[in-house]
Amino acid sequence: MSPLTIIGGGWAGLAAAVRATQAGFAVRLLEAAPQLGGRARRVTHDGLALDNGQHILIGAYLATLQLLKTVGVDTSTVLWRLPLQLQSLEGDGLSLPALPAPLNLLAGVCTARGWSWPDKLSLVRQATRWQAQGFACEAQLSVAQLCQGLSRKVMQQLIEPLCVSALNLPAEHASGSVFLTVLKDALWSGKGSSDMLLPKVDLGQLLPDVAHAWLRDHGAVVQTGQRVDDLGPWLEQPVLLACPAWEAAKLTQHVSPIWSNQAAKLTHTAITTVYARTAQGLSWPHPVVALPSHAQAPAQFAFDKGRLSADAAWQGVLALVVSASSGDREALTQQVMTQVRDQLGIHDASLLTTIVEKRATFACMPGLKRPTMQVAQGIWACGDYIAGPYPATLEAAVRSGNAAIEALRQ
Ligand SMILES: Cc1cc2nc3c(=O)[nH]c(=O)nc-3n(C[C@H](O)[C@H](O)[C@H](O)COP(=O)(O)OP(=O)(O)OC[C@H]3O[C@@H](n4cnc5c(N)ncnc54)[C@H](O)[C@@H]3O)c2cc1C
Repeated sequence: MSPLTIIGGGWAGLAAAVRATQAGFAVRLLEAAPQLGGRARRVTHDGLALDNGQHILIGAYLATLQLLKTVGVDTSTVLWRLPLQLQSLEGDGLSLPALPAPLNLLAGVCTARGWSWPDKLSLVRQATRWQAQGFACEAQLSVAQLCQGLSRKVMQQLIEPLCVSALNLPAEHASGSVFLTVLKDALWSGKGSSDMLLPKVDLGQLLPDVAHAWLRDHGAVVQTGQRVDDLGPWLEQPVLLACPAWEAAKLTQHVSPIWSNQAAKLTHTAITTVYARTAQGLSWPHPVVALPSHAQAPAQFAFDKGRLSADAAWQGVLALVVSASSGDREALTQQVMTQVRDQLGIHDASLLTTIVEKRATFACMPGLKRPTMQVAQGIWACGDYIAGPYPATLEAAVRSGNAAIEALRQ
């Protein structure tokens, strides 16, 4: 059996470890933290299992869904499948019916509440143009430039929320070509690809706990609390770096300065999740609602965790997500709690905790050159930041882990 050391046990490292074990490698996975999962991990607050940040998956995450299946997760019981809906509590905005693509989009656009016919036509015209161009555009275009023909309402209620949740950047700064890839795979692919998949369990239960057990049962060695500060002792065997860009940059400074420099140059944007609790019964149409977000009301989405799970501990728990967040924790928390009161009409909400992940995702800007998976002889890298079609997402991480093992096998 060929040995393989994987450094980092986030979703990329876990995907790589599972794929490598299946391919017959003797895997040793070293994770610095006490638990697996990386940025998509369980965080316990006063005995309550929450996440490092509320996550959603979509139906187009084929590699992620396959990984969950491989390690034995029954996705139909742990994920709440909901046709894409970006509607406010009042029902304004887009909601797609359960039809094959692109009929679902067409029907959703025609029935979007609060959109005039010029709004709807601007989207149909633009979408037809993108499709005719094969969902490709110049690398230097931003999402805002790409969408110049769209009405203000479509920008506010569709493009801006989609862009900030997929690329974690506002439309003026986000890569148009990566955004088009996301649109194509989510909205123009197979049935269900645009569906939102909302975890009904904490992120630890969704993958890391199950993958850990699977790896152990299949002979892989998994060591948590095992930080690697120097690659030297590990270089007698192939090494796969599955740690984030800034850590990979430090570890490769001497072995591959050019690669290291490129990884170190990536900039990052934050995501803040405010968790709150209410005793007020909620009667939202879905477990997630879009919020009318602006500078003083920064959260874009609210999740009713109690609706997602029968677990008594989650009843009344809300997760409010501020993508591309900036500013200090206290101010953000206050603004979001005001949104809970004024926009959601919840008057008794108490704060549970606020989690600010400063380097949540790399900034997926127009024309960005991302590091490749080959670092140097015998050293490979995987992770959501490695060159690929997707922005920093679970799917990008999993695909990158799989791709690194396929490359290593050759
Ligand atoms: C708040 C938040 C919300 C998000 N929401 C979504 C969402 O809704 N949908 C979506 O698809 N994506 C979302 N993402 C993005 C997604 O979580 C990431 O893209 C993905 O988890 C990245 O996985 P990774 O394995 O590439 O990196 P990481 O998760 O960063 O994993 C790297 C691992 O390496 C370990 N490590 C670091 N240094 C060392 C070292 N020296 N030695 C050993 N181990 C080391 C770390 O502890 C970590 O476990 C979100 C991210 C955040 C932070």
